[in-house]
Formats: sequence, C-alpha cells, structure tokens
Amino acid sequence: MSEDCIFCQIVAGEIPSRTVYEDDDVFAFLDANPLAPGHTLVIPKSHHEHVQDMPNDLASDVFAVMHRLVDPIESAVDADGTTVAFNNGEAAGQEVPHAHGHVVPRFEDDGGGPIHSIFGQRPDLDDDELDDIAASITENAGD
Ligand code: 5GP
Ligand code: ZN
Repeated sequence: MSEDCIFCQIVAGEIPSRTVYEDDDVFAFLDANPLAPGHTLVIPKSHHEHVQDMPNDLASDVFAVMHRLVDPIESAVDADGTTVAFNNGEAAGQEVPHAHGHVVPRFEDDGGGPIHSIFGQRPDLDDDELDDIAASITENAGD
C-alpha cells in the first residue's frame, strides 16, 4: 500500500466506495465523479502506478475483471456499449497514480466520441518511419 494513494485507501476501506467486485487481487468500484451512470474503475489491490508496472499475471487479472463486469455494467444502466480504457501516465491524463481501468457506459445519443476523438491532427508518417517504429516495438516486446 502507498500511504498517500487514494485508491490504496479505498482498497483498505479507509475511504468508502461503492464496491461492485472484489477478489484477492482486484477491486472494482463506481467512479465518484462519473462520466456516465455506471462508470466503474477496476484496479489492482497492490499499488502500481502504470499499466506496465503491474506483473503480467496481475494485469491479466485486472483485464479479466473488466471483461467480466462489462455485461453487468451495461445491463445495470441499459447502455448501448462501453468505452473500456486506461489513462496511462500523466501525459495521457492519468490523475490518480494507481493503475486503473475505466469502464464507461455509452449510449447512442450521449454525444461522446470514440477514443480517436481525444487526438487532434494525426501525424504524417512515411513508410520508413512506420517500419522503424514497428521494428522497435517488436524488438522490445521480446523481453
Ligand atoms: P484518471 O484521470 O486518473 O484516469 O481517473 C481517475 C478517476 O478516479 C476519475 O474518473 C475520478 O472521478 C475518480 N476518483 C478520484 N477520486 C476518487 C475517489 O475518492 N473515489 C472514487 N470512487 N473515484 C475517484
Ligand atoms: Zn495505490
């Protein structure tokens, strides 16, 4: 546990939350300032700041709980879909430095956009740049 982390304090029961799922490793609760009814956060119980800081098994467990909750969340609020996403790192808008997945119910008429709408102009990348990026990712993913 990280003493000054609000999500660690929620897991420890020191800050109340509307818990919707809990097991040995993963905790899920309603967002206190929801983007839509049913907006749910899924977190590892142990403190890891970024997605990539979680051990593989724990990351899989977190995603498994998100996967498990999507249907119940959509049913609870009669949603037409969900945006399932992580803000990973400050530059990506992560405000709470304890990795958390968002499951945000979506509705046909909610006026929101896809994840693509977060971004402005798309970068103009030539074939060589794309090849270099792909090669670098492939090389480092082997670790
Ligand atoms: P981030 O921007 O870090 O991806 O999202 C943090 C989320 O945590 C926000 O949607 C915010 O509403 C939610 N949040 C922040 N503090 C609390 C809290 O004390 N309780 C709950 N339930 N949600 C919180
Ligand atoms: Zn924490």
